Amino acid sequence: MSELGELDLSGITTAQERQILDRLLRGDFDQWAEQAARVGHCAHPIRLTGQQHTVQAATGSIRSTFASASLPDKVLYVRCNNRRASCCPSCSRTYQGDTWHLLKAGAAGGDKGVPDSVASHPMVFATLTAPSFGPVHAAKKPGSKTQRCRPRTRGEVCRHGKSLSCMEIHAEHDLLAGQPFCADCYDYDGHVIWQWWAPELWRRFTIALPRFIAKWLRVTRTQARKLVRVSFAKVGEYQARGVIHFHAIIRLDGPPTDDEDFPSPLVDVDSGWLTELVEQAVGSVEYQAPVVSGAAPGYRLRFGVQVDARPVHRRAGRDDLSGAIHPETVAAYIAKYSTKSAADLDPGVRPANPHLARVRATVAQLAELAYGTYPPGLPKPPNPYLLLGKWAHMLAFRGHFASKSRRYATTMGRLRSARRRFEHARAFSPDGGVDIAALNQELADDEATLVINDWRFVGTGWNTPGDAVLVAETSAIAREHAGAGRAQSRNTRTTK
Ligand SMILES: [Zn+2]
Ligand SMILES: [Zn+2]
Ligand SMILES: [Zn+2]
Repeated sequence: MSELGELDLSGITTAQERQILDRLLRGDFDQWAEQAARVGHCAHPIRLTGQQHTVQAATGSIRSTFASASLPDKVLYVRCNNRRASCCPSCSRTYQGDTWHLLKAGAAGGDKGVPDSVASHPMVFATLTAPSFGPVHAAKKPGSKTQRCRPRTRGEVCRHGKSLSCMEIHAEHDLLAGQPFCADCYDYDGHVIWQWWAPELWRRFTIALPRFIAKWLRVTRTQARKLVRVSFAKVGEYQARGVIHFHAIIRLDGPPTDDEDFPSPLVDVDSGWLTELVEQAVGSVEYQAPVVSGAAPGYRLRFGVQVDARPVHRRAGRDDLSGAIHPETVAAYIAKYSTKSAADLDPGVRPANPHLARVRATVAQLAELAYGTYPPGLPKPPNPYLLLGKWAHMLAFRGHFASKSRRYATTMGRLRSARRRFEHARAFSPDGGVDIAALNQELADDEATLVINDWRFVGTGWNTPGDAVLVAETSAIAREHAGAGRAQSRNTRTTK
C-alpha cells in the first residue's frame, strides 16, 4: 500500500475519482490489487468467469479447484498479451523480455536447452537496410552529440530548387528526422514497392548465404550441409523515414547428432570469416519486382549498400576496437526493437507526419492501380499487389517483425506456456508464492494431471475507467522501480 502515496491522479474526472475511492475503500481491495499485479498491471485484461479443476489422471480425484466466484469482481483477469507498447505497456515489456530470452539463448547459450558452447560458434550481428529513395533529415546516432544532419558547404540544391544541406543536429525524436529534403524528388513508389518485397529480399538472403559458404568451401550445397548449418533470428524495425530494416543474429552450427543438438561446425571458420560472407551474400541479393501495372515502372530491388555486419563473441568488451560485440548486448539491442510498430512511429498525439502520410497515400494509389489494371466484372488474374491496400497501416510491410529459423533456439510458444503455468501456480497458491521445484516436476510429468477448464468470456478491460487509471498508474510506478533496480544492478556490475 505504500506505493499509493506516489500515485499521480491529476487530470482524472470526478466519476473516475469516485470509482477509485470506491475501489480503495472496498474490503477486498488488497485481493484485487494482488489480482492486478498478477496480470502484470495489463492495460486491457480479458475477463473470464468459470472454474478450473486439476485432476489426478490415474485416480480421477480432484487435486484442486479454482473458481472466479471467489475473486473480488467474480471474474478472472488474464493478460491481453499485446506486444505493442502503445497498446499495453506491461504486456509489451513481457513480450520484449521473452524475445530477449529467446535471442540470448541462441546467442549466448546456457538457457532454454541451448548449451553454453553456442557462444563460441561463428556468429554475426548484421543490419540489412533499404537503399536510399532520396535524401532525408537524419537524427543523430545514440551516444553521438555532434552529428550534423547533412552538412554540404557548396549549397547543393535539388532540381526543384530546394536545399539539400542541413547543419542542424536532430535529436532522436525530432519531428524533422526521416522527412525528405524534397518530397517531389523522393521516390515514394520505390519506397512502397521495396517495403512490399522486403520479406522476399530477406528470404533470398537466407538462400544466398549457404550458397556463398558452399562456394567458399568448394563443395556442393548438399555437402556443405553435412559440415555447417546456418541459423538466424531477426527483427524488423522501422527507421524514421518509415522504411523497415532488419537486425539479425546469424550463427553457424554443425549438423545435429544423436548426442548434440547444437554441435560446432565441422569446418574451422570464425566470426570474422562469416562477417565477410554475410556482407557478400547481402550484396548479391536482388529481385526484379513485377510491375504494378503497365502505368508504373518496374523495380530491380536490392538491400542498401551500407551493410553493418559485426562479429559476435564473448570476449568482446563494451567498445571493442575490432567492432566485435558481446552476445548479450546484441540480444538486448534486438529485443528493444521488437515491440515497435508503424503506429509508434506516428502516434496520434503528435502532429501528423507529412512524409508517412504520403507513404500511406502512395500505398493506396498503387493498390488502386493494381485493381484498375483489369476490366471490371472479369475474374482478376493473380496480381501480387492486390492486397497492398490492406497493409497501408504497416506502410506496406507485410512480413513478421520477429522470426527465427527452426533451429535457432526455443520457441516463443514454449516460453509462453511455461510462464502461463507459473502464473497459474501463483494464482492458486494462497500466499502468492510458487514452489518452483514442484512446478518443474509438474511440467516434467505433464501427463500425471489433467486440467479441466470451464471458462466463459465476459469482456475486456478493467471494470471501470477508475480501475483502469489505478492500474495504469501502479504499472508506471512498478516499471519505474524495476528500471531503477536494473540501473542499480548495472552500476554494481560495472564498478566491480
Ligand atoms: Zn496487456
Ligand atoms: Zn536536417
Ligand atoms: Zn526536389
